[in-house]
Amino acid sequence: MTSTTTLLERNRLFSEKFGAAELPILPKLRSVVLTCGDARVDPAHVLGLELGDAVVIRNNGGRVTREALEEIASLVFLVRQMEGGKKGHFELVLMQHTQCGSERFASPEIQHALKENLGIDVSETAIHDHEQSLKEDIQRLKAASEIPDYVIVSALIYDVKTGSAREIVAPRRLGDIVLD
Ligand SMILES: [Zn+2]
Repeated sequence: MTSTTTLLERNRLFSEKFGAAELPILPKLRSVVLTCGDARVDPAHVLGLELGDAVVIRNNGGRVTREALEEIASLVFLVRQMEGGKKGHFELVLMQHTQCGSERFASPEIQHALKENLGIDVSETAIHDHEQSLKEDIQRLKAASEIPDYVIVSALIYDVKTGSAREIVAPRRLGDIVLD
């Protein structure tokens, strides 16, 4: 039995009770959650996201990489277009977590080995310190001309040992966030 068999069986049960056919394309909470791909931090569970609530982007560490930045920018653009050009509410929640694999990418040996063996540069996703890297990510957003100032940004750290998410940067317009 493969994992796919298990997942398809779970989907069969899900589809039997399915009642979300009428959900609109735009997420109800007008929000994007950017977080890590770690199996322990699924926002549907830890933030209680329901179907249709928010767009979820996940990568190693939940970092604002160039790719993530472009995905977020295109979504803001699309939502604005679909809302007739108005700068409506659009919120971005950055959520990192404790015991993240990206902390290992901070090791110079691992960075070197990945570069040597696979030609991959993980310096953009490496996490030395969660609070610091969340602030760095907000700085990346502020420096990106593609992300408009009216986007509301917040930053959280989720603790995999307690299930609790702590607010590091309270939600504010990107343009109004002043980092210390
Ligand atoms: Zn992680």
